[in-house]
This record gives sequence, C-alpha cells and structure tokens, in this order.
Amino acid sequence: MRWFKEFFHRLQLSIFLSSCKGCGEPLVFSDEARVCVCRECRATITLNRDPQCRICGRIMDNDYDRCGECILNPPPFRKHVSYSRYQGLMKDLILLYKYSGVEKLKNLFVDYYIELVNDVINEDFDGIVPVPPDKSRKREFGPILEAAKILCQRLGIKLLSGYLVKVKETPPQAGLSKAKRIRNLDGAFKLKNPQEIKGKKVLLIDDVYTTGTTVTKCAQLLSKHAADVAAITLARS
Ligand SMILES: [Zn+2]
Ligand SMILES: [Zn+2]
Repeated sequence: MRWFKEFFHRLQLSIFLSSCKGCGEPLVFSDEARVCVCRECRATITLNRDPQCRICGRIMDNDYDRCGECILNPPPFRKHVSYSRYQGLMKDLILLYKYSGVEKLKNLFVDYYIELVNDVINEDFDGIVPVPPDKSRKREFGPILEAAKILCQRLGIKLLSGYLVKVKETPPQAGLSKAKRIRNLDGAFKLKNPQEIKGKKVLLIDDVYTTGTTVTKCAQLLSKHAADVAAITLARS
C-alpha cells in the first residue's frame, strides 16, 4: 500500500500544485511557487564570481582589470555585469520566459537583477531603462519591461520606459557574427524626449549579453544625453 500512498500523494501534488520549470517536481513551498522554480534547481544558478573585466564583465583568465576590447574600444557604458552564464537551466528559463509566456519567472529574474544592483554594482540610480522589445515579435507582453516594472517597484527607482524605443524590425541576433549584429541593429533604436534622460544616472537592463551589441547600441544613444550609463543582464553567453 505504501507505493500507492506515495503515488496518490504525488498525484494530488501534481493536480493542485504547479510544477518546477527546471525539474518538473511539484512546487510545495510558497517561495518556490512565486518564481516557478524549486529550491534545488535555484541552488544550481549562482552569481558569477569569476574574475571579470571591470567594464564589460567579460570573464578573464588573467589578472588585468580590463579586457583588450575595452582598452582598445571603450564602450559607451561605464560598467556591465551579468548574473551568470547563458547555459543550462538559466538558458532554459530565459527562453521559457521570453517565448513560452511563463510570466511568473519574472519574479525570479527580478531577484537576480536586485542581487546584481545591491551586491555587485552597489550604487544608486535615477532610473531604469529596459531594452525595448523587437517590433516584429507580436507578443502580448514585453518580457524585459515587465521585469523592469517590478524591479523599479522593489528598489524604489523610477522606470524610464518609452524613451528608448525600437523603430526598426530586425531579424533575431542569434547566430550572427559581431559585425553582422552591429549592421543588423543600425538605426534600430531611437531616443524619444531625450531631455527627460538628460544628466541622469541610468541603469539599462536586458536579458542576455552575447557580443554586447544591443547593450552598446542602446548605451550609445543614452550616453549622448544621460550623465552615466551602467547595464545589467541575466546571463552572458
Ligand atoms: Zn526543480
Ligand atoms: Zn571588457
């Protein structure tokens, strides 16, 4: 009978509880249900502590504080950091959030953004600017904007949305070389009412940092008017 009881218990759990987006097990605790991921799976995603370039966040295998790229071509942002690497569970969760509409994952990602702001960047900002969604993707919600709204509420920082906008439909960046990514995004973003950004210290947020093209293009526009631009992303590939 024991196996039957166990089976019945699991069946009950699976009917009444949502399941972990990582391992599929029922989410028993409220902190698990809040973010759609169980404690065990969350423990596998940790803040990246490897030596990094202090400007772009590139993982470094030497003792220099800046990477060669940042020395030769200083980016238009003062600093960028990612929470972890774009692989394994983190990659799966980002894709589930962006393309399968698992909206509760925004709570998990906001936890990661907050850890980056409080423990890594450790500075105050006048406002948060989310990287705008691609116009061509007719999704019902802008994943970065939704996370940014909660992030601003929780940190008590102003949401500066609607200023940085995407004005051109562009093919997905995935799989393109850095040169093609740059061309792909030429003229793709625009800054509306730049006087509202003028002189402000802003935090730009996005999901994935691959070659840094999107963050760089957005920061270029912002930094012409903003006093200072820093950026955070969930994962670096
Ligand atoms: Zn799990
Ligand atoms: Zn760098």
